[in-house]
Amino acid sequence: MTTLDFAHERTDPMPAEQREEFLRMPGFGSLYSDHMVTARWTADRGWHDARSRPLAAFTLHPATMAFHYGQTIFEGLKAFWRPDGRHVLFRPRDHAARFARSARRMAMPELPETDFLAAVTALLCIDGDWVPRARGHSFYLRPFMIASETHLSNRPAEEYLFAVIGSPARPAAAEPAPIRLWASPEYVRAADGGTGTIKCGGNYGGSYVAQREAAAHGCHQVVWLDARERRYVEEVGGSNLFFVEGDRLVTPPLSETLLAGVTRDSILRLAGRLGLAVAEEPVTLEDWERGCRSGRITETFACGTARALAPVGHAVTPAGEWAIGDGTTGPVTRRLLNTLLDIQYGETPDEFGWLHTPERTP
Ligand SMILES: *Cc1c(COP(=O)(O)O)cnc(C)c1O
Repeated sequence: MTTLDFAHERTDPMPAEQREEFLRMPGFGSLYSDHMVTARWTADRGWHDARSRPLAAFTLHPATMAFHYGQTIFEGLKAFWRPDGRHVLFRPRDHAARFARSARRMAMPELPETDFLAAVTALLCIDGDWVPRARGHSFYLRPFMIASETHLSNRPAEEYLFAVIGSPARPAAAEPAPIRLWASPEYVRAADGGTGTIKCGGNYGGSYVAQREAAAHGCHQVVWLDARERRYVEEVGGSNLFFVEGDRLVTPPLSETLLAGVTRDSILRLAGRLGLAVAEEPVTLEDWERGCRSGRITETFACGTARALAPVGHAVTPAGEWAIGDGTTGPVTRRLLNTLLDIQYGETPDEFGWLHTPERTP
């Protein structure tokens, strides 16, 4: 297979002073770097026209298939700054592999791993000044693909647009605040045989009605229960869930309805290093409540690329609510978060080989 050749077209970067001011403001996902990377796929030519170019709006015909039938997939991964002026990407190959899995499930063309890596590297090299330096800060890369063919037929498109945009990610606070989770009795995120294991747009659009319900109950996010029995705790919005029982770490097993988080996998591997036993086993809502009330479950946290680890302080259901531990961030959550950040910021050796230092491109 031939690899894509990237052309590079530069724009005048944002003045450094203005950029630095942007990088100091806390927040996520509302600012974008100067460039984007795009590539096209057509049934007759395969992948072609790969380039980094100034960030700009797309012009799309109203009959673009993505608008109507939802063939859209995405990834989210992070780059971190290094004192030598280079940058590192966290587990980009795992994100490339999941992007390919998402594409297969949605009958979209796969982007080879080497091209995925070349695309995120191209954006990182051209917009390297957008990678914030402070611990806890990072550059969030959003690769995505949409069906770009203009047609109203209900079938897989024959043209696709792939793009990568980047956004500096800055934490709102030095210490993550515990979140409240709402267990939706009515809505489900994923069912066996469905698309719950991949990152396609529809999974999220279909979940916002429950997120609204969560907000109405004073909660930040939804904790999803299984579609069959509405008993088993699966995951949270865009994060996987872990329970701490003393020095044991429990997380629901991968299934046809769980998104296999790269962070989830990282936590499972880091746990051993911290002397924690790990178990991938089903947890019911009832187990969780009883465990918290009896003191067996001492902590719960959600984890994902965007926010690393988010402590869960309270769980809320229509029948009532309970606190996890004393409702604050527990010591195991804090240690796991710090260990992960230490690796990402180069303060501890990367013994798992998770960091990828891209070669510079022109
Ligand atoms: C992206 C995502 C996660 C977390 O995956 P990471 O690879 O750790 O970022 C978990 N659940 C859902 C539903 C997601 O979309």
